[in-house]
Amino acid sequence: MSIQILNEQTILKIAAGEVIENPASVVKELVENAIDAKATQIAVEVHNGGKSIIRVTDNGEGIPKDEIDLAFTRHATSKVQNYEDLFRIETMGFRGEALASIRAVSTVTVLSKQPQDEIGAFVKYDDPKDPLRQNIAHNTGTTVIVEDLFGRVPVRAGFMKSALAEANRITDLLYRFAVANPLISFKYSKDDKILLRTSGSSPADAIVELFGTDVSDQLIPVDFQDHGLKVYGWIGKTSLYRGNRSMQYLFANQRIIQEPSLVQIIEAEYSGKIPHGRYPIFFLWVEVAPDQVDVNIHPTKQRVQWVKEQVFAPMKDEVRRLLLTENEKNRLPEKTEEAKPERVNLFTMDEYRAMKGMQSTKRKDAVSDPKIDYRTLQEATMPQRTPQVRKVPPVQQTMPLPISKEEKADDWFLQLRYIGTIAKTYLLFEDAVRMEMVLLDQHAAHERILYDSFIKKGKGTSLQTQMLLVPQTLRIKPQEEELLVRNLSLLEELGFIAESIGESMFAIRGIPYQFGRLQSPQNLFYSLIDTLHKETKLPEQDIKDRLIKRACTEAVKAGENLHEWSVDELMKALSTTEHPHTCPHGRPTYVRVPLRNMHKWFQRIPS
Ligand code: ADP
Ligand code: MG
Repeated sequence: MSIQILNEQTILKIAAGEVIENPASVVKELVENAIDAKATQIAVEVHNGGKSIIRVTDNGEGIPKDEIDLAFTRHATSKVQNYEDLFRIETMGFRGEALASIRAVSTVTVLSKQPQDEIGAFVKYDDPKDPLRQNIAHNTGTTVIVEDLFGRVPVRAGFMKSALAEANRITDLLYRFAVANPLISFKYSKDDKILLRTSGSSPADAIVELFGTDVSDQLIPVDFQDHGLKVYGWIGKTSLYRGNRSMQYLFANQRIIQEPSLVQIIEAEYSGKIPHGRYPIFFLWVEVAPDQVDVNIHPTKQRVQWVKEQVFAPMKDEVRRLLLTENEKNRLPEKTEEAKPERVNLFTMDEYRAMKGMQSTKRKDAVSDPKIDYRTLQEATMPQRTPQVRKVPPVQQTMPLPISKEEKADDWFLQLRYIGTIAKTYLLFEDAVRMEMVLLDQHAAHERILYDSFIKKGKGTSLQTQMLLVPQTLRIKPQEEELLVRNLSLLEELGFIAESIGESMFAIRGIPYQFGRLQSPQNLFYSLIDTLHKETKLPEQDIKDRLIKRACTEAVKAGENLHEWSVDELMKALSTTEHPHTCPHGRPTYVRVPLRNMHKWFQRIPS
């Protein structure tokens, strides 16, 4: 083929691929435009995962009638005039590429009216040469409708995932927009079902409206300034975590960002304080002067370049300090906490708002007042002094010596002499007969006991569920609703009873009686949903087994009641299990150290 200059349409389509990858990128660009147009209300509607229709409506400034065509032309923007402007960007968009790109790969319609105009404009770009134009009645603001995305670019259409996967991507994005812009009221519906709605009144309200009080009750406020940076928002207490990073929200100057090294730093502070393989939750806004941030990196603008040292060190210190204080607070009043009446939290959002006497304040005033009170959610209680937490030194590793098959496990467990507990985790015993030291992992043993009793009950005629005195509300992500509903009867067979009460809310009514009183049955359910996510392709029996294992792990971690067992009771119960030597996940429940080894350590005998 000889060299040819590509025609304008082809160039546009190639360029469009950089900005518009999938339905979620269309939504992202349109919502950003609405934010830039100073909208206080943004409604997003998608059908078929955004493949057939995406509609974004805002009540912003509108596009001047005679500039609509220009807006849909490449490199046309009202936001940047020259190169220097790039270093003080305060808007979301600035490349002037999005609308042109969207137009190149779909059928797009725009309706817009500016406040001073009587009548609005309607333009439908279906025929590239001859768009359909009309005057039309429209509220002040803009509606952009994108139909048949990639319909004329079949190659790219092939890269789109299933409607469900694309819709989930959009849902996640809308959650992030709604948190990032708490003073804008968002409404998002998918296939005519409303999945998310915020009032646009305050950050605290946005969190409650999006995630419920289960989450908002367990947040610690963050608010500090350091070297010209301002950081505010919330981090989750160590009792709050998820199986993935979907509830980690980071914003730089209101822009949704991904900053893995910062996430890593925060996660490191939670390590050891939340279960292994779980992720902390946070909502953090970082503000820097616009000229300190370079957003001109990639069309999708998700990576923001930091002057790294600036934010990392102070963030680490702050998260550490807050978590230390949280632990102090939790440790002292253990008993009084138990005496508290069980929390009743089964109410609707409207009731919640009514209770708190909340009112939506319209954004007009809020916008002109950039000082948002990010603390109203919980009173920030500052620590007096941060006490040092003693680090437990690493225990000398010794290989477990499984006791021989012939030996009867039950007798052996009962003859051990208890000496004490190490690090609230390991029970130390002496086996005087065999001259050994035995270290037993309390949690692993509990897990085994729980698992076995669970399996035994499961095999019996009736599995026992304890109905909760007060049903607990469980708010899940809309995209998980289908998964949970599909598995409700499976969970019920295992003793977990929940029912849908609408709008991604469930009521937890019962949990297996073996679990005793759990502080947060919700966390247990979140883990079960995680397990369901991961194991969908397994045969049902395997899924059940994994659910039970996961549930046991969670129950042991969360259930203080299990720790009230006496050592005697624990050893008795362990000795009656079928596999006392390992926990359900195959880790050893104990290790044995022969006296000989100890003599060697002290060089009493040659090694
Ligand atoms: P950019 O956002 O980078 O400027 P876009 O292609 O997304 O580029 O938009 C082009 C221009 O169209 C914007 O600069 C803005 O002037 C106008 N525009 C787009 N969407 C809206 C909207 N929802 N309300 C008002 N003006 C808009
Ligand atoms: Mg834009």
